[in-house]
Amino acid sequence: MKYTQLLSKPSKAAPHEADSINAKFLVQGAFVRQEMAGVYSWLPLGLRVLNKVQEIIREELNALGAQEILMPALQPKENWETTGRWDSVDVLFKVPSQTDREYALGPTHEEIVTPLVGSFVHSYKDLPTAVYQIQTKYRDELRAKSGVLRGREFGMKDLYSFHASQEDLERFYELVKQAYLRIFKRCGLDAKIVEASGGSFTKKFSHEFQVISPAGEDNIIACSKCTFAQNSEIATYQADQACPLCGAQLQAVKGIEIGNIFDLGTKFTSVFKVGYTDEQGERQTPLMACFGIGTTRLVGAIVESNHDDKGIIWPEEVAPYQIHLVTIQSKDVDATEQIMSTVSSLYDEMVEAGLQVFWDDRTDASAGEKLATSDLLGLPVRILVSQKSLEQGGVEIKQRNADEAEIIPILDVIERLKED
Ligand code: ATP
Ligand code: MG
Repeated sequence: MKYTQLLSKPSKAAPHEADSINAKFLVQGAFVRQEMAGVYSWLPLGLRVLNKVQEIIREELNALGAQEILMPALQPKENWETTGRWDSVDVLFKVPSQTDREYALGPTHEEIVTPLVGSFVHSYKDLPTAVYQIQTKYRDELRAKSGVLRGREFGMKDLYSFHASQEDLERFYELVKQAYLRIFKRCGLDAKIVEASGGSFTKKFSHEFQVISPAGEDNIIACSKCTFAQNSEIATYQADQACPLCGAQLQAVKGIEIGNIFDLGTKFTSVFKVGYTDEQGERQTPLMACFGIGTTRLVGAIVESNHDDKGIIWPEEVAPYQIHLVTIQSKDVDATEQIMSTVSSLYDEMVEAGLQVFWDDRTDASAGEKLATSDLLGLPVRILVSQKSLEQGGVEIKQRNADEAEIIPILDVIERLKED
């Protein structure tokens, strides 16, 4: 991608109204555009990040044998009445029709997935089974805030599993926990697993995945050294006490909830009368678990955890492009022409080699402006080509999170990038 061809250009100035780091950098970098409070468009650069996050999630969940589906956002009121949640879920958006009907805009999908899976599960041979979707959710949050961390429309991956025994449910629950840790690690996040209360579900057990960050809304008691963490609401330990696992001091910190997993028991399967025939020919109600990840919130959490004062520092696997190619024009017109034609071929070769490269090909922006843009966008590697670098024998290569740059011969660039 070339800067001059990109629809949505980064801004020089940070937005005034940004209430968080992710709102500031994601809007300024034109990764997203705010349409109204809590509702965002995902622009070309931001969508590439979101798609990469989603692909990581797909890879890890497909590896567990979960199957991807896509359920509707517009949902029948009757299903919400069946579970009693039409009146009890305060964030539920209720949509009136021009007929006398009303619909729900899905804040979650138990009301759809339970009868859906129930229509295909008949025998113990059909269990266990697990389906997931990556889909847009709607919640009438009292306050949308912190950029993409709390929206009224947001992305979620929701996975639902169905089991014949508690033992089997717990086996799968553990597998998902481990898959979640891999997902978050690949996204550059160090997530803590926190025991949680079950929210609007009858609690059997539930865990939250929290990223420690001042931008978070949840109060967490966490160990500064090891993985131990508890939600303050239910905590048996307090700040300044010794960690029960390693003895280090516990701290009161803020957390961003990026994932939440629940053992639902038969709460939904029983109300929707889902049943299967067991080996003895008797009718049973399957057990159910659900597993959420806020995909758009995850992108916000990545920014909150991976930035400096100049901009984002995207973790390798989720960066919109891997390489930020920057050309600095010279005062000498011929020298500038030479730089542009050299880099034009280099860019083509990079694309051909399968490298994901973003080229700031502007000829009307200063070196300072281009470097500021490059720091703001936060791609992992910057390759800078100027008259000076060519005189010094090649191009300047620098990692976004390093202070030092290095000059390497232009002929070595592609090999070097492929190694990285
Ligand atoms: P919160 O406590 O932050 O309101 P929740 O516990 O109500 O979230 P869940 O029902 O557990 O949310 O939804 C699963 C995941 O969806 C959450 O862990 C979070 O990552 C994400 N999520 C929930 N609400 C929002 C929102 N308003 N905007 C963005 N992501 C959200
Ligand atoms: Mg939750």
